Amino acid sequence: MYKNIAAFIRIAILCAFAVIFIMTGIGISLQPGHSPIQVSHAEEAQEALSSSEEVRTKPGKEIYSAAASVMAKPAFASAPAPVKEKKKSGKKVYLTFDDGPSDLTGEVLDILKKANVKATFFVLGEQAKARPEFIARIHEEGHAIGNHTYDHEYSKLYESFYEFWRQIKQTEETVRLITGVRPQLVRAPGGTAGNFDETYFRLLKQGGYQVFDWNVDSRDSKRRGVPAAEILKGATAPANSNEAIVLLHDGAGHKETVKALPGIIAFYKSKGYQFDVLTPDMKPVQFKLQNKIKPKKKQPGSRWIAENVVPNAALFKQGKTLAVDMGGFSTEFAPGEYRLEDGKHMVPLRMAVERLGGDVLWESKGKLVQVSLTGTRWEADPNKGTMTLSGASKSNESRVQFIGHTVWVPIRDMLKISGHPVQDVVSGEDIYKIVTL
Ligand SMILES: [Zn+2]
Repeated sequence: MYKNIAAFIRIAILCAFAVIFIMTGIGISLQPGHSPIQVSHAEEAQEALSSSEEVRTKPGKEIYSAAASVMAKPAFASAPAPVKEKKKSGKKVYLTFDDGPSDLTGEVLDILKKANVKATFFVLGEQAKARPEFIARIHEEGHAIGNHTYDHEYSKLYESFYEFWRQIKQTEETVRLITGVRPQLVRAPGGTAGNFDETYFRLLKQGGYQVFDWNVDSRDSKRRGVPAAEILKGATAPANSNEAIVLLHDGAGHKETVKALPGIIAFYKSKGYQFDVLTPDMKPVQFKLQNKIKPKKKQPGSRWIAENVVPNAALFKQGKTLAVDMGGFSTEFAPGEYRLEDGKHMVPLRMAVERLGGDVLWESKGKLVQVSLTGTRWEADPNKGTMTLSGASKSNESRVQFIGHTVWVPIRDMLKISGHPVQDVVSGEDIYKIVTL
């Protein structure tokens, strides 16, 4: 009997412990302190996802998106549904900077680089000539360059199309000498509204250009010294929710725009927009031709059009995309990003190496470019026209050359010295595909 009582007490105590144990467990899971663990998972997922989205906007497509999808996988597994929707939004934002380059352009480029977003710079020929190093940097860092005329002087530019055309060609040549690429995008100083007559629209199109106005005005040039807070407000009020082309300025005196820029980028990221550059094949955003604009008095004659405008369009018909597949990594160069010289595909060295996951370092003392790509190290010498493997005594001759401030190389030589000789070049209707060993 006594034994039975003792046994009963023991069971009762065990049961009591069990109940306490279960209750405590429930208690913990009900405590608010427990939930942050789950929230932080969601946050991590969101962070991983948004950083992969940023990466995805790089123009080096495949290689970056491959890396991004690897990163994004664990995030998708634990990400709550709204995050997925955010990714699918399809909303795009195009930041555009007019009137540069100026002394502020370097800071703008640093901010864009840090945020991993690309933008479009509508440059003035006059400024490009004064600061070619910024034009080279804009190009090499994968941003787009558009043409904003040579000197921005309304009275001359909008008196007749002849002067507008002359300035477009002058700026085009300035940029081409620096980067090797002709800008095809055009933005009218002050916008087309009230400035272009029908001739301007028609002849620029016929000449192969694509004119872009904007649909979001940051109002950073409405008056002198518009404060950053006001610019941020203007730049983040998209009129069309799916495609925002934002007007900003990186010309002299636009310090407040630089100040506002990180906030503008953060806003569009938080709303799920993807950043991209304007391209000539996009449907342009243009202001409607206003009825009150009378045709300019001086109109170009048919002979001038036939001699100047008609053949100009052919300058942009370089055609094919150049795709490179190197040991599982791949990237693409759009027409205009590469050149075809005597049957050789020439690419800007820095752009090509960075898109394939390597690094370049400009060694100013010896005037050499040091390259590190897929585990190999080599130097390119644009003055001697050679490529040399690190530690090798013999150099290989190659058409390494400066075009303005940019070093260009034959992609075949670059791949070979990096240990991936070209196996095959397949020429399709709209693509050259380079396949390496
Ligand atoms: Zn302007």
